[in-house]
Amino acid sequence: MFKRAFWAAACVASAACGSGAPAAPTSSTSALSAPTSFVITSQQVFLDRNVVALSWSGGASTYKVFAGSTAGASDLLSADVTGTSYTWTAPRTAGVFYVRVAATSGGQTGTASTELPVYTIDLRNVIDALYFGYGPMSDANGRAPASTVAVWPDGATIQTLVTAQTGAASLTAAQTFVADYLAASSNFISVPISTTATTYTGVALQDIPENTVVVRVDNSVCPQPGVIACAYYGPKPYGLGRSTVNLNAAPTGNTPDSWKAIAHEIGHAFGLHHLVMNSSGRAEFQFLMNPALVASQLSAVEKTAIAAARAGGIRAGTTRSEAVSLGLVLPQ
Ligand SMILES: [Zn+2]
Repeated sequence: MFKRAFWAAACVASAACGSGAPAAPTSSTSALSAPTSFVITSQQVFLDRNVVALSWSGGASTYKVFAGSTAGASDLLSADVTGTSYTWTAPRTAGVFYVRVAATSGGQTGTASTELPVYTIDLRNVIDALYFGYGPMSDANGRAPASTVAVWPDGATIQTLVTAQTGAASLTAAQTFVADYLAASSNFISVPISTTATTYTGVALQDIPENTVVVRVDNSVCPQPGVIACAYYGPKPYGLGRSTVNLNAAPTGNTPDSWKAIAHEIGHAFGLHHLVMNSSGRAEFQFLMNPALVASQLSAVEKTAIAAARAGGIRAGTTRSEAVSLGLVLPQ
């Protein structure tokens, strides 16, 4: 039985629900004033680490940056820094850590800044969610993992047809997704994209040629209230080796969410499942495959996961236990 992936209007909590930890008091009695404007300027996620860039303002020339596994702790980092920025290489594992900075002078350490929580992401959980629909970053809610990944076979040519009825923005959305996906996965397939005057409305999935993805307007596949689009997972054996992306209505200038949905649904057509993160509101974690449609194209984290999955050996038909053996997902 083939699977359909739905996008529903309110199926996931807001991604912007992070909460700040209270600032820990410092025992220092130094007159050195606390740095201000302490912020996380960026966070990158790799298979073996998170990289957290910090910056602040202050009148001192030297500082100490602290990171701890609990509020106020410094068990992970106590670094002497010249200047008002620092890049912390944080653990690869998922967790919440606490960072703060204090001015130093003449061997004294001043009052600490506001303390910030850092929500680290384990890229193995990203791969698990995207490729198996499983783990803490999926929206599986107790569902079993997919038996195998849905990844097109190496060297395949995947014809992608965008019907003219879905509009010029659909073509652009498809082109951008495919370019990002192929760049991340070392061009292991080729994906020619073209427009067609044929609407394909009402054409059964089984009648779509193999290794073809059709982006069309067709409200017969997912007509449920609140759903604007859906797609079939494409690659075998999880899918039928073909896919349709089905928009319930042609996008218009007033419904940008429809365009956002196109790359998301093509993601499903290319085998990707949902990816969610609710404990941080950071822009880096606005994922394309979040069903709340918080992004219009693949995020850097998703691209890194796709690259790591490819480089680490995930191929068409890879099972989850094989991915565990490859070190690409956690046993959980
Ligand atoms: Zn979806």
